[in-house]
Amino acid sequence: MAKHRTILLKNIHEEGQHTLSGYESRGGYQAIRKVLDMDPLEVVEEVKKSGLRGRGGAGFPTGLKWSFVPRDTGKPVYIIMNSDESEPGTFKDRVLLERDPHLCIEGIMIAAWALQSHVCFNYVRGEYAFPFERFHKAVSECYEKGYLGKGIFGSSFDLDIIPHRGAGAYICGEETGLIESLSGNKGQPRLKPPYPAVVGLYGCPTVVNNTESLASLPWILNNGGEAYAEIGTEKSTGTKLFSVSGHVKKPGVYEIELGYPLLEFLEDECGGMLDGSRLKAIIPGGSSVPALRADELDGVNLDYESLQAAGTLLGSGGFMVLDHTVDMLDAALNFAHFYSHESCGQCTPCREGGHWIEKILQRIASGNGRTEDIDLIKDLSSQIGGHTICPFGDALITPVLSYIEKFPDDFYGKIKASERYLNVVN
Ligand code: SF4
Repeated sequence: MAKHRTILLKNIHEEGQHTLSGYESRGGYQAIRKVLDMDPLEVVEEVKKSGLRGRGGAGFPTGLKWSFVPRDTGKPVYIIMNSDESEPGTFKDRVLLERDPHLCIEGIMIAAWALQSHVCFNYVRGEYAFPFERFHKAVSECYEKGYLGKGIFGSSFDLDIIPHRGAGAYICGEETGLIESLSGNKGQPRLKPPYPAVVGLYGCPTVVNNTESLASLPWILNNGGEAYAEIGTEKSTGTKLFSVSGHVKKPGVYEIELGYPLLEFLEDECGGMLDGSRLKAIIPGGSSVPALRADELDGVNLDYESLQAAGTLLGSGGFMVLDHTVDMLDAALNFAHFYSHESCGQCTPCREGGHWIEKILQRIASGNGRTEDIDLIKDLSSQIGGHTICPFGDALITPVLSYIEKFPDDFYGKIKASERYLNVVN
């Protein structure tokens, strides 16, 4: 298996790649020209053949998601690129928007033709000022050249793309929260069903796809779904972007063929651990997936199935490497603070429970913890997980429970030290 592939990042270091002329000089906008001569359903089939799975975190097959969109409702169909990249440790879509925005636009165009959508949006994370600017400028270039608007590329197909910058709320990355926000409402998720494919933006059929997923489409349509499916493993096809942070020599964004052995990736691509650092844990898919201890990494590959078998998830590809200096109690507290702050507040278990967990962790960290606190956290978590409108409740408890299970000494050690101190004082 070739481990290193450049389908998405191939041209990001090329001069002027972010401009229309730079993108076209390296073969850009060829796939959409080809697609406009295809039957839209044929495009859906090609994406199904590729095996492409959503790169935002859920890993749901993209072609299958598209096939849920009803085509006979008489209502418009909307496509939304989800660039609300807010999961801690994840910064891959930012690179695509900044360095190759036309690749993202061409991906949206292909999806638009496949689903016969005439109005598409890109919902960009509020803090991503520069990526938004780059994307917006690229869209303007397309309008000037006649690649967007009436009759794109000389066809009879009309397409508008509307860049939209969010206001910096994590939960707007959840597709129904995003749709609510884009509709002008509070960015609060809603219960599913109905799924957005049937009742989405303005009550119309809507597909929300991650930036990386859509940016993969030009290659798939240029080379064929089968060629894409030959990359990676049988069930995890293609390449995936990983944003690497933490105690490694070469943090950054990497594109690898799915199935790449995790430890090889760490050594060969990320440059290994910093001098003097010993590996303690890896969080492979963003803050909301369980951590793996250093002794659990042998034989684990970077693909959906292997990571799941190891007890974690590929998630968004936010690959965080933690060394021996990291106190997992501090890490849990840090994430608990983040999630409790980002709760949209609709569900009591998430709104209240998140804060309670944060406060208990604070109590332990400040040297006032009690042994029962761990059971209290577990009990609270059991009332949050699976009891909320959206998966945020599970995202909130996963890091905390995972770190307690995998690194109990970091929690009980602190509690025991506090109890010893209190015994001495009293
Ligand atoms: Fe909002 Fe949390 Fe409920 Fe999701 S789980 S809808 S973020 S309160």
